[in-house]
Amino acid sequence: MILPADQARFEYSVPVLVIGAGACGLTAALAAREAGAEVLVLERDAKPTGSTSLSTGLIPAAGTRFQKALGIEDTPELLAEDIWRKAKGETDRAIVDAVARASGPTVEWLADRHGVAFKLVEGFLYPGHSVLRMHGTPHRTGVELQGALLAAAGRLGIDIVASATATDLYAAGDGRVAAVRFTRPDGTAETVGCEALVLACCGFGGDKDMLRHEIPEIADAEFSGHAGNQGDAVKWGRALGAALADMGSYQGHGAVAVPYGNPVNWGVLVNGGYQVNARGERFSNEVRGYSEQAVEVIAQPGRVAWNIYDEARERPILGFADYEEIRSLEGIRKAGSLRELAAMLAIPAERLERTNAEVDALRSRSAPDRWGRNFAGSAPLAPPFCAVKVTGALFHTQGGLVIDTSARVLRPGGTPLPNLFAGGGAARGLSGPSNWGYFSGSGLLTATTLGRIAGAAAARAQGA
Ligand SMILES: Cc1cc2nc3c(=O)[nH]c(=O)nc-3n(C[C@H](O)[C@H](O)[C@H](O)COP(=O)(O)OP(=O)(O)OC[C@H]3O[C@@H](n4cnc5c(N)ncnc54)[C@H](O)[C@@H]3O)c2cc1C
Repeated sequence: MILPADQARFEYSVPVLVIGAGACGLTAALAAREAGAEVLVLERDAKPTGSTSLSTGLIPAAGTRFQKALGIEDTPELLAEDIWRKAKGETDRAIVDAVARASGPTVEWLADRHGVAFKLVEGFLYPGHSVLRMHGTPHRTGVELQGALLAAAGRLGIDIVASATATDLYAAGDGRVAAVRFTRPDGTAETVGCEALVLACCGFGGDKDMLRHEIPEIADAEFSGHAGNQGDAVKWGRALGAALADMGSYQGHGAVAVPYGNPVNWGVLVNGGYQVNARGERFSNEVRGYSEQAVEVIAQPGRVAWNIYDEARERPILGFADYEEIRSLEGIRKAGSLRELAAMLAIPAERLERTNAEVDALRSRSAPDRWGRNFAGSAPLAPPFCAVKVTGALFHTQGGLVIDTSARVLRPGGTPLPNLFAGGGAARGLSGPSNWGYFSGSGLLTATTLGRIAGAAAARAQGA
């Protein structure tokens, strides 16, 4: 809710206040603090985790020293073009360019200044990526990334008030936010004043009603993100007269292991694996992107599919903690023949064999299949064959507050609200209006780059 600024009663005030302690909020806090501002972070959970901890923690960035060490040539321009192509040009080019420009410096800043132990992911290209540019922590987990960010915040003495759910903003008639009210688990409320506010409380994946209204196609799918992300940034922004865009946009994922809930890395499909349904039939172009594949999978019988691949395709993703966990729970089925594999999966053996033969025929053809996928040149699967049962899920919403390249929240006419900033899942993403524009890794890309930009800009705005 938005309350009149003159009703705000608070005992303390900070120059920069951040709501949400995920990747966006923590990078914003680090940047604001480095810019010399005192900063306070409000976080609803007792232990800050966010969708960031649930993620694989991979961040695309261009022109980094990690890429250069492996001889990979990349530029912000190439990254921007890749993002733009994936979104079919239906997003804000200025933000795409700003994020792409900021990506390399942000990853290096997090590594060199704040101790995030990045390594480049090798062995396969993510959908839409022209070159290897995914940076991840040693076990490729969001828990490691979040832990490193929290440790960095601790080293800078940044105060995080946990178990503090922001409920209301106090704002003047011109939209200037004067204070934020938050509640504690025992129901008591407190208010803190601020000179600038960064909304880093992600999207609305945790609010089913909002999802049903804004994105009905994915509202009933599993939500793999953080349940506490209930669209508060959008709700406050709307009430303050901020512009919203791409509210039907989201990041889905078309291979969440059943019943484990972990995403299966797309590398097994990109390198020549494929998906079949319960009839043993393929049903789509699996490599357009993992986001748009979510609705394809939940449209299949039982809302499930199986990733079919082999050990050569599995090799590059061994060591990813998500995958290792599924393996340790025996969620990866392996068999010496497709017939045996089909029996394990309880799908028709003859049809699976026929599907595999059809794919093999495509591998020696240069033309794409009827869904537009080109298998040309990829080696046939070899025994032992591998399979994992998957479903489609919502990872996070991509619509949100319209911002400028300084992460200032804008009104519909393009003028900025006086002291309000947003990034990560709280702001409009780079994906365009729907599910097909999600560029692999752009969730954490916008969380970290826009978080850093927002924090620095909020520090500059204090007292303005
Ligand atoms: C399974 C999975 C895998 C993923 N893998 C990747 C990946 O490898 N690469 C990638 O780029 N993206 C990935 N994503 C997406 C990525 O996790 C998100 O885009 C990113 O974490 C968003 O960061 P954020 O800081 O905006 O939000 P979050 O990390 O969700 O942080 C928001 C914080 O705000 C808090 N909050 C919410 N409302 C309030 C309130 N009213 N008051 C106080 N606090 C509040 C929440 O508790 C939360 O801690 C994945 C997502 C999932 C679910």
